[in-house]
Amino acid sequence: MNPNVSSSSTNNRRKTISVSGPAKYDQTRKRIERMEEERNERRRETEQKKAARKVEQAKLLAAGNPGDVDFIGMVQEWRDEQAKMHNNHKQPHYGPGSTDNHGNIIVAVRKRPMSNKEIQKKDHDSISCFHPKIWVHSAKYKVDGITKYLTHSGFQFDHAFGEDSTTDEIYMATTMPLLDHVVSTQGRATCFCYGMTGSGKTYTMSAIQQILAHDLYEELREQGIQVEVTLAFFELYGGFVQDLLHDRKRCKLLEDGKGEVNITGLQEVPARSAEDFLRIVSAGHSQRTTHTTEANDSSSRSHAICQVFLRDPSNGDLKGKLTLVDLAGSERGSDTKSHNSLRRAESAEINTSLLSLKECIRALGQKNAHVPYRGSKLTLILKDCFSPDSKTTMIATVSPGASATDHSLNTLRYADRIKEQRISSSSNKRSTRGPASRTCTSSGPSRQRISRILSALEWNPNSSENQFDIQKATRVEEDADEKYIAESVSTLSGEISDLDDDEGTDRPIKETKPTEREESEALRAARELFDVEEELRDEHFACLQDMAEMLQEEFKMIQDMEAMAQASDDAMDNYAIKLAEYLDRKELLIRSVQAKFDIVKHHREMNQSFTRDMEAFVQT
Ligand code: ADP
Ligand code: MG
Repeated sequence: MNPNVSSSSTNNRRKTISVSGPAKYDQTRKRIERMEEERNERRRETEQKKAARKVEQAKLLAAGNPGDVDFIGMVQEWRDEQAKMHNNHKQPHYGPGSTDNHGNIIVAVRKRPMSNKEIQKKDHDSISCFHPKIWVHSAKYKVDGITKYLTHSGFQFDHAFGEDSTTDEIYMATTMPLLDHVVSTQGRATCFCYGMTGSGKTYTMSAIQQILAHDLYEELREQGIQVEVTLAFFELYGGFVQDLLHDRKRCKLLEDGKGEVNITGLQEVPARSAEDFLRIVSAGHSQRTTHTTEANDSSSRSHAICQVFLRDPSNGDLKGKLTLVDLAGSERGSDTKSHNSLRRAESAEINTSLLSLKECIRALGQKNAHVPYRGSKLTLILKDCFSPDSKTTMIATVSPGASATDHSLNTLRYADRIKEQRISSSSNKRSTRGPASRTCTSSGPSRQRISRILSALEWNPNSSENQFDIQKATRVEEDADEKYIAESVSTLSGEISDLDDDEGTDRPIKETKPTEREESEALRAARELFDVEEELRDEHFACLQDMAEMLQEEFKMIQDMEAMAQASDDAMDNYAIKLAEYLDRKELLIRSVQAKFDIVKHHREMNQSFTRDMEAFVQT
């Protein structure tokens, strides 16, 4: 081996070159020059990219969008590709060319626009809607910690509404079919808004109520139906019913011997016109928002239920009922690990009610199936909404910000479970996913009705008292919500275990054979059983921890009382109040474990029946 060659220093390399002769030198020099050129080219490219990035960043800033320029660019590229693939064609939500046959359950998703606060925090829009599909673009870094990339999780629903969609479009696709069902068949129907706090549930529900007010009376008039319209509007908070139309009066939930559920003390208020309707609903909303400021964000921890009754004017018999439910924020799953036991009990209650609700809607989709409505107070109150001939709409609302992608994915998975069950249970002939190509055979809402609904949005009565201000209905909640979201997002990071825990991979939209379908349903049922069993264990554990804490506090409370020679009236009153609180909290905790236990039992039965079917199938 030549000792000169082995040296790595530049001088030695030169020496090596010189001893190797002019031809070799020339060749090597050229190679070095080429390498230098290449390196310079790379530098130029990097500089150009940096300059372009700066220009892009400046452009985004000027447009009021200071988020991560690379991720924003990647999302935009993805959208451009999609738009090209679909030839910029937008599928309509109703009328010719739209999908139909949503059956008795409609599942829709609505993405709200980016808020100023999100923009100021340099968050970026991470959700794309191409009706009926919606995609969540999760921003990721490779292991080097520098290279950025996106993962795309796709879902398909009956309707996917983007930030440009108006509430009248949403109303026509999701709530109008419910109203038609209620008015023309005297049936029951329910519309839910589900999603994390701040995702637009109250905004959407308020706007729906506004349009509904006009559409309802017009429909009744056009169809010549004589009924009395009455409204009840209440909040279900921590397991208690509070009447929003009567100073938040607490009402009792009672079930009679026949299994009928009654809320005693809840008063219906007659609404004789659209204006009446709006005034009443607006009063209910203001009860919620006022209370929010006083009690720090209680509205996002409560379910707001607005019931619209159509009654026979002569004897008060029910001639139809439409229920509108603005559900509590869905992000509370993480709170079961929080140290505040009251918060934990509230979270457990919300979590349980949302899980039970999902189970009930799915059971409704399966038809004939047992509806586990006893799983929570919410589902108990809504018992009649799960009768086989009732109709249901679930509107899942999502925040577009990248910082909320985990929550958005959880929301979409929740909604997807409802839809998945519904479609797979309906018929073997159909695809497991609703194909986008099914075309509408019905003509959709009449032109007249559409223009009537559109004009409802512009309705602006002179009286400020009557004015239904959607921004107002939602604005007061914002600051408290922000605080709560920040809290729950930080608790949530890294534990996306919330309500469901599917992998966030793209969902294939394909036909499956019946046997494959059965197999995958069995697998899904098994996976769900594992999920709910785990949830039961967590819930039980959290409940025991809470109980232990409470026991200690209660012992101390009694000891303090005994230490006093003679308990004063005040001390006794205090003791009684505290004891009532402890008992309420314990009742809540036990009920939440009981509800989880019932859900597990229900899943076990389903699993056993799947296993039996599969065994029978294998034997044949
Ligand atoms: P939630 O009830 O889910 O907690 P809100 O309905 O209070 O959320 O909405 C949070 C904020 O976002 C409010 O300021 C509301 O006005 C705004 N917002 C929600 N949805 C929309 C929308 N589709 N268009 C414009 N603003 C919206
Ligand atoms: Mg709200």
